Amino acid sequence: KQSQVREKDKADRATAELVLDNRTRMILLQMINRGFVSEVHGAISTGKEANVYGAVLYPENADEPTQKAIKVYKTAILGFKDRERYITGDHRFKGGVGKGNNRKMIEAWAQKEFRNLNRIYDNGIPCPEPITYKKHVLVMGFLGDKRGYAYPRLRDARLVGDNVEEQWHSLYVKLLGIMRRLYQVCELVHADLSEYNILYHDKELYIIDVSQSVGHDHPRALEFLRMDIKNVGDYFRRQGVDTLQDRTVFNFITATEDPTMEPQMSEAIERLYKSRPAVAETDEAIAALEVDNEVFRNQYIPRTLDQVYELEQDAGEHVDKQIYQHMLADHVVDNQARSDAKAPVPATIDHVEDKDANLSNEDGT
Ligand code: ADP
Ligand code: MG
Repeated sequence: KQSQVREKDKADRATAELVLDNRTRMILLQMINRGFVSEVHGAISTGKEANVYGAVLYPENADEPTQKAIKVYKTAILGFKDRERYITGDHRFKGGVGKGNNRKMIEAWAQKEFRNLNRIYDNGIPCPEPITYKKHVLVMGFLGDKRGYAYPRLRDARLVGDNVEEQWHSLYVKLLGIMRRLYQVCELVHADLSEYNILYHDKELYIIDVSQSVGHDHPRALEFLRMDIKNVGDYFRRQGVDTLQDRTVFNFITATEDPTMEPQMSEAIERLYKSRPAVAETDEAIAALEVDNEVFRNQYIPRTLDQVYELEQDAGEHVDKQIYQHMLADHVVDNQARSDAKAPVPATIDHVEDKDANLSNEDGT
């Protein structure tokens, strides 16, 4: 009893001044007791769907304290945007997350973000180090300086020097490389990529906010990829960068016959510049390119399951979509098991509970 009171005191002190519900408080206390963080500080960001807090870990040996970031998904569902479409079709959630069970669904976002971060981090793309998660709370490495200031979003980055134009160009090329690596190696599409979900520091781009990222086999993966490409292109064009056509970028990211990865990647991108048709100079040529871009953006790109299903239907077969769903899921889970040997993928959301029980076994640090 005594120790319970002390624990509660500790939690209150460590999370002082934060307006948190009891469940969140208790999870943070558990994170503290397990040595993931020592103190939780003020909000770095408050959003519609999540708040991000700064935190500090004082290691037991008198090493330098390290900064962490804690993302707390809001369990009050109000204003939660249409996330259903990201999870529907994700084989990792084939059991579905009942529409009626908002809390479970929100917990699924923290889990998804943790897993996606793991894949991205393990494959050498700059991003926060995934540390642990529990329910709707995710702990990750902090991207910022020692004083606790987070790196700016690309949107707010100020590039300095006498070659700013060149710097923007190389950031663009770098980002295309990251997108290709994300797709080819991590087998993910970010699905909310923009200047708001990239942090900038010292010529480096850090990818964040990956809870909605989907596997490249997700039925809508290519549609999301096109969206990402458009956002990235629009932003860099506004910075004065001579960007490649969306279609060219799309082919570059998805082409499997070309195994190009770093360090030749940026050279491959520069080759795309060289090989493109002569620069459109007349208004008509520019307009034609715009039309081509628009057509590309609106094209329907079918994906595995739907492809198979619709082909069969066209052939007049009566197909039970359920069967295909299982075939696809099994196939994918197989691949998954190989690439994710460390962390078995729970087949349904119910198994998440079991995994959570082993919080301390989560590897990360
Ligand atoms: P949201 O769903 O609210 O957009 P994000 O993951 O994009 O959540 O995080 C919101 C903001 O919090 C980011 O724009 C960034 O400024 C900050 N942030 C998020 N993660 C980190 C981190 N690991 N280190 C430092 N700042 C972070
Ligand atoms: Mg964001």
